[in-house]
Amino acid sequence: MMPPEESLAAPVLRTTGLHRRYLLPRRALFGPRDSVHAVNGVDIAIPERGSLGIVGESGCGKSTLARLAMGLEPPSEGRVEIRGQDLAQASGPALKLLRRAFQMVFQDPYGSLNPRHTVGRIVAEPIDALEKPADRRQRVEEVLRAVGMRPADLDKYPHEFSGGQRQRIAIARALVTRPALIVLDEPVSALDVSVQAQVLNLLRDLQEQYGLAYMLISHDLAVVDYVCRQVAVMYLGRIVEEGPASLLFERPAHPYTQALRQAVPSAAVANRRRRRARLPGGVPSQTRLPPGCAFADRCPIAEARCRVEVPRLREIGPGQRAACHLA
Ligand code: SF4
Repeated sequence: MMPPEESLAAPVLRTTGLHRRYLLPRRALFGPRDSVHAVNGVDIAIPERGSLGIVGESGCGKSTLARLAMGLEPPSEGRVEIRGQDLAQASGPALKLLRRAFQMVFQDPYGSLNPRHTVGRIVAEPIDALEKPADRRQRVEEVLRAVGMRPADLDKYPHEFSGGQRQRIAIARALVTRPALIVLDEPVSALDVSVQAQVLNLLRDLQEQYGLAYMLISHDLAVVDYVCRQVAVMYLGRIVEEGPASLLFERPAHPYTQALRQAVPSAAVANRRRRRARLPGGVPSQTRLPPGCAFADRCPIAEARCRVEVPRLREIGPGQRAACHLA
């Protein structure tokens, strides 16, 4: 996943062979328990100051992957490393240090900010939990300015702001620990289209200004193309294509990425409306994945081999990999 010039640096985040299964309740008293394989053998690496977009439809496992990367839930198998340190082995002060290096911005700027707390208290939450530094107020004011808010907003409450401003406050909260990586989970999908571009531009500026790495989760290929250098496309828990964002946007190789690309309207109308990917067939049950390629029922070019042999992720061009027999 790393561009060649950055491949020698230790990644700020690496996942190796990551799996996450959830056991479902029994349907009969002594019957077997089905499980959902939400993340199925995912390897990613994000270098310092790098940016990786994870794109796919809802239910593809991208938000679960984000929670595993943040240590918010344990993997069923596999490993998450932060700057070379195994997250599962860290505890006490070492874990605190790792947590400071990672922050998250959630999709819903209404639900993610405590309505009873002032903006100042909300933004300071991560440093209050970790260290309560002497320069607390200056740091809060600095990050508020960085996201385009005023220090005078410190004493206001979330309901006094628009959705876009609330997301700026959430971004300020993520910045205040001076993290190395911010995980952005659908950061603009709950915002008005007119505000989305402002927040995406802000994210690009902040990455430059603070030397941040991003993991950006989105259903929208255009959003990740705008912010990220690298993209991984997920379908039913697996990465089916990955490579430089510009390449995947211009020349997607996997039929699923092609469908996501077709859902992005032309530049002339891109700011007015976005479409969801339209594909024939339905998404297979996540409790009983079909043999072969999980995309076969929706794929316009599927052939007999696709229904029996799982396609492996393989190099199909410089820096581009796809899990498709025909790519
Ligand atoms: Fe389509 Fe076959 Fe490729 Fe799967 S492996 S995406 S079914 S062509």
